[in-house]
Amino acid sequence: MGKILDQIKKGKILVSDGAWGTFLQKKGLLLGECPEEWNVTHPGEVLDIARSYIDAGADMIETNSFGGTRFKLEKYGLANQVFELNKAAAELSRNAAGDKFVLGSVGPTGKILMMGDVTEEELYEAFKEQAKGLEAGGADAIMIETMTDLEEAKLAIRAAKENTRCEVFCTMTFEKTVSGEFRSMMGISPTEMVETLIDAGADLIGANCGNGIADMIGIVEEIRKTDKNIPVLVHANAGMPVYRDGETFFPETPGEMAVLVPKIIAAGANIIGGCCGTTPDHICKVREVVDSTTSPG
Ligand SMILES: [Zn+2]
Repeated sequence: MGKILDQIKKGKILVSDGAWGTFLQKKGLLLGECPEEWNVTHPGEVLDIARSYIDAGADMIETNSFGGTRFKLEKYGLANQVFELNKAAAELSRNAAGDKFVLGSVGPTGKILMMGDVTEEELYEAFKEQAKGLEAGGADAIMIETMTDLEEAKLAIRAAKENTRCEVFCTMTFEKTVSGEFRSMMGISPTEMVETLIDAGADLIGANCGNGIADMIGIVEEIRKTDKNIPVLVHANAGMPVYRDGETFFPETPGEMAVLVPKIIAAGANIIGGCCGTTPDHICKVREVVDSTTSPG
């Protein structure tokens, strides 16, 4: 089985996995606990999440390493375990994946370059350290995600590209403004993202979180207006969050998400999966629709 980009070049539409964060909470991860520490303290639970997405029909699964840079881990006194926790994350997903793919998840550091919180070199080194751990554990690609700052995204891409042999993917998170345009929290539009991320070396770009699949269609269309060829991945939330009784939940059902899959394929998405609130049931439905949309005849 070739790497992910080869599959896309052959014209395949691929299915990714769904949420990890909300899934870990369901399994008992407490607020204030370090999710990545579970890779060594609760490996069975993490493996179970990974397996449930493979069982649902995903072609690729992520790793439990979203907050795996030293800047996130230092809050739990774990900054000296970056390599080990990321390697463990990738090994667990690799174990579950079999001949499917593993995307090593890399989230934002929480440090803001523009505010002088951190230097470019420090960010680059932090992403390099994480990416090397993920590669050592068997990740096929480094999935840089939920980015809102283009500079941080660029440094993460360069660090992964220059220090691993993995394919390097990057998605940003956009919200819809009152005038109906998409902007990241730092004011970046999908159009502005495209060229910058490709120049930095991204093999695939796209969007995750912030929107349900309905608005992701508009984001994919905007990306495709700028670049017809770059592979595009979407990890959509299960709709927009609803706050009730002090809790956040994501209301979109698997069927409601899946019904829009043909439209997002038509818009130009190559890989479709879920973010916050999506479950193995969502991914199972997406799989069914992708298969019936793309199967010959
Ligand atoms: Zn999300």
